[in-house]
Amino acid sequence: MSRLRGRQFLAIPGPTNIPERVLAAMHRPAVDFKSRAFRPVEAEVFAGLKQVFQTRETVYAYPSAGRGAWEAAMVNTLSPGDKVLIGETGAFSVFWCEIARELGLEVEELAGDWRHGVDPAAVEARLAEDRTREIKAVCLVHNETSTGVTSRAAEIGRAIRDIGHPALFMVDTISSLACMDFRMDEWGVDLAVSGSQKGLMLPSGMSFLGVSEKAEKARQSARMPRSYWELGGLREADGSLRFPSTSPVHLIYGLAEALRMLFEEGMEQVFRRHLRLAEAARAAVRAWGREGGPEVFSLDAREHSNSITTVLLPEGADAEAVRRQAEDRFQVALGAGLLRLHGRAFRFAHMGDLNEPMLLGALGGVELAMRAAAVPFAGGGVQAAMDSLAGA
Ligand code: PLP
Repeated sequence: MSRLRGRQFLAIPGPTNIPERVLAAMHRPAVDFKSRAFRPVEAEVFAGLKQVFQTRETVYAYPSAGRGAWEAAMVNTLSPGDKVLIGETGAFSVFWCEIARELGLEVEELAGDWRHGVDPAAVEARLAEDRTREIKAVCLVHNETSTGVTSRAAEIGRAIRDIGHPALFMVDTISSLACMDFRMDEWGVDLAVSGSQKGLMLPSGMSFLGVSEKAEKARQSARMPRSYWELGGLREADGSLRFPSTSPVHLIYGLAEALRMLFEEGMEQVFRRHLRLAEAARAAVRAWGREGGPEVFSLDAREHSNSITTVLLPEGADAEAVRRQAEDRFQVALGAGLLRLHGRAFRFAHMGDLNEPMLLGALGGVELAMRAAAVPFAGGGVQAAMDSLAGA
């Protein structure tokens, strides 16, 4: 049994804090998901999702983890042996490559150093070389949750369009949607993959897939085997959308409430709040690193993530020890460094239902945990975060 008291500060990148209003909306008896009474809730959710994706196209939903929508994007639009170009951004682009290979696609990784986003010029150059139009899809993790780097998806979309290459543009928005600006239509995104447990402030268990008209056309000739992920079955005879199998009715009630909350706050304000909190988190890390201590892993100010900061520790410091101290003694849950960053970095998420004192409390816990884990750092991170918030 835990001896710890008070509430935990969740600074992991999902699941994020679930607002009381969303919990309350889910606290209800089950309903018949085929009943007429439930239809308006589903309709509200599908319409709201389009608004969040900033699209006039269709957003489908599955009861699944986010990686289900990765698979759905590929199997619905590609054929065995097709080549996909995946920008290397970090652990999640690596996982995406693995899934694509397992599905029988040919993967070409556009190499990256993890500390920068995918270079739009490199995408353009690679597509220009591809005269035989072998590349069928360009895949991008918009916000790389392992590194805290946000690639410039708008510029990459423009590069694909400018060069006139027919590849589909697939974008993973799992840790950017409803945290930072994402414009499916304006940026020329054909398949937008997302999940419920981050900016949408819900439990995990729902994934979303925005599908452009061009991607709908690609479906007609796509030969990858698919059953659960088949998009064709997700429309009723009257044209309305539905979930495959038994609808996750409680999650849908929760999503309806979460969308209402986002729209009440206003999406612009949601993005501004995430930016303000992210800048405060980065200010804290820079203060800690004044004398060669921890550093913000992301290197290009244009690409700093507004939903998560990956904190690289100085050589010899143990990021897992910081995480253990934070969790066991100070009720702060931090994300682990993934793959090559394991033990070298921890991840401090600031996404979803979060305000200034919550952020400052978690940063204070991190400062204590770093001291307990004997990480060399300069003090004053929380003060720097407050200064940043006061000035923003
Ligand atoms: N892509 C990104 C960018 C993620 O951050 C995650 C999870 O954190 C995933 C994909 C996988 O999502 P899930 O864990 O819901 O399958």
